[in-house]
Amino acid sequence: MQYDLMIKNGTIIDGSGLPRFRADVGIVHGKIATIGKIRDRAKEVLDADGHVVAPGFIDAHTHMDAQVFWDPLGTCSCWHGITSVVMGNCGFSLAPCGEKDKLLVMRNLERAEDIAPEAMEAGIKWSWTTYPEYLDAVERLPKGINYAAYVGHSALRTYVMGERAFTDAATSDDLEAMKREVRDAIRAGAVGFTTSRTHNHQTPDGQPVASRLATWDEVRQLVGVMGEMNAGVFEIANEDVRFDPDRVHEYLGRLKALAVDTGVPVTFGMFSSRQAPDMWRPFFTLADETAAAGGRMFIQVHSRSLNVVLSFETVTPFDKLPVWQELRTLPLAEQEAKLRDPDIRHKLVEAVYQTPRDSSRRVGAEPRAAHFKWLLVMEKATPPYRSVAEIAADLNKDPVEVFIDLALAKHLKQFFLQPLVNENQDHVLEMIKHPRSVVTFSDSGAHVSQIMDSSLQSHLLSHWVREKQAVTLEEAVRMLSFVPASHWGLTGRGLLREGWAADVVIFDPNTITPLLPELTHDLPAGARRLQQKATGIVATVVNGEVVLRNNEHTGALPGQLLRGPLARR
Ligand SMILES: [Zn+2]
Repeated sequence: MQYDLMIKNGTIIDGSGLPRFRADVGIVHGKIATIGKIRDRAKEVLDADGHVVAPGFIDAHTHMDAQVFWDPLGTCSCWHGITSVVMGNCGFSLAPCGEKDKLLVMRNLERAEDIAPEAMEAGIKWSWTTYPEYLDAVERLPKGINYAAYVGHSALRTYVMGERAFTDAATSDDLEAMKREVRDAIRAGAVGFTTSRTHNHQTPDGQPVASRLATWDEVRQLVGVMGEMNAGVFEIANEDVRFDPDRVHEYLGRLKALAVDTGVPVTFGMFSSRQAPDMWRPFFTLADETAAAGGRMFIQVHSRSLNVVLSFETVTPFDKLPVWQELRTLPLAEQEAKLRDPDIRHKLVEAVYQTPRDSSRRVGAEPRAAHFKWLLVMEKATPPYRSVAEIAADLNKDPVEVFIDLALAKHLKQFFLQPLVNENQDHVLEMIKHPRSVVTFSDSGAHVSQIMDSSLQSHLLSHWVREKQAVTLEEAVRMLSFVPASHWGLTGRGLLREGWAADVVIFDPNTITPLLPELTHDLPAGARRLQQKATGIVATVVNGEVVLRNNEHTGALPGQLLRGPLARR
């Protein structure tokens, strides 16, 4: 047999959790044809000697819905071994929505997900109204990786109810119209339906995004449509109940009933929090109880703490103070000069202590007021990190002075981290290892200048596998490939098996690691975002074609739209 591509001499970790073995992988027509000792020829050969050959990783919690229109590669996820993503999470899809109403849908996305409206305006060629038309548009786009998509509640509500979506309960006519749209979307290949009920999701004018106006009955009925069709996953950005045991109990009861009554798999993200360290546990118990009662539930977890990434190039915790505001509007070089002026600097430091605490509410991944114990210096891409408070104590200096000094030492390009949740790494590890969890939640495509979690997969492999030896490589690969592929029904992906899609990542387990992020202005209309790459990834293969070699794009764009089960039958 003549192969299109052969991966020679690699160590196969096949995604199932089974132990590694040495073999070659032969690929024909985008599929794995042979795993074994191959003596035949191939048009292209990748030498994987000394490297791991694994199924491409899958990130099921992204917001690439807008980005896919201007960035076929799916950066930054593709730089961390990702070959498939699921987008449309948390109720935010770009369809159904006609071009004339696109600003309403963008209003849902702008603040909640920190995607610049001018980037969306410049980067998206709007060619759809209905959800099936949107999927067709994504299918036609050139793509480096594979994309699956949910239909989002905020878009759905806005499509059916217009401006009322942001203020009103749905009428029975509204609800019937929404149910019709969900049915059409699932039939066309949406992988599920998503919603948000969290206060973190607000519009730029501080109003809730549209899905938050829905009653629980509205949610139940829309999920019920998927139940009737026996297809689709339901993803929810949880209600804000974490610190109140009674509300947690009541909410968990509703979630369980929804999963059991409809039969639809229910999924949501869960984090531990220093403010309520054990509030995540009942959600994991719930997943077990739901399964025992006949429903399905799986929990999306992160591989590290969820951090706001701060710097003078983006935001600092002090930007809202009047003296700082003045400084921060200047070009970076001028800010640097001013920060070196002792008088100005004195005023800036004083302002931090004199100004009454800013009480405006920060939501989502917006920076919080400075708490120096929880302001970490990102000297490298993986922990441990020292806090500004610790360094200040060591040097016997004021923490604001330390913050400024550290920033100046890197010409204001030093990044700082503000952990929002998942501060306790023992909890993180416990969650990663829970049998009903799935390691995902990069939020790739969203919060583009606020957080940088597209590296959570390379972090799992470098931190938990190599540095901590807390997870085996076989377990970690399974967490990133077979587990998400199974939960989201990405049939024929997530394992290295003959006949399965040739989505493959080849990496060096001794060196794979995320690199430090950088700030770039490469979004449409020059909007800014954080970028983060990784080292140690030798090649990324999608549908049998090498898309990245040493994380450089080869020019190939073999990615596909992955449609849900009803569209494949
Ligand atoms: Zn999200």
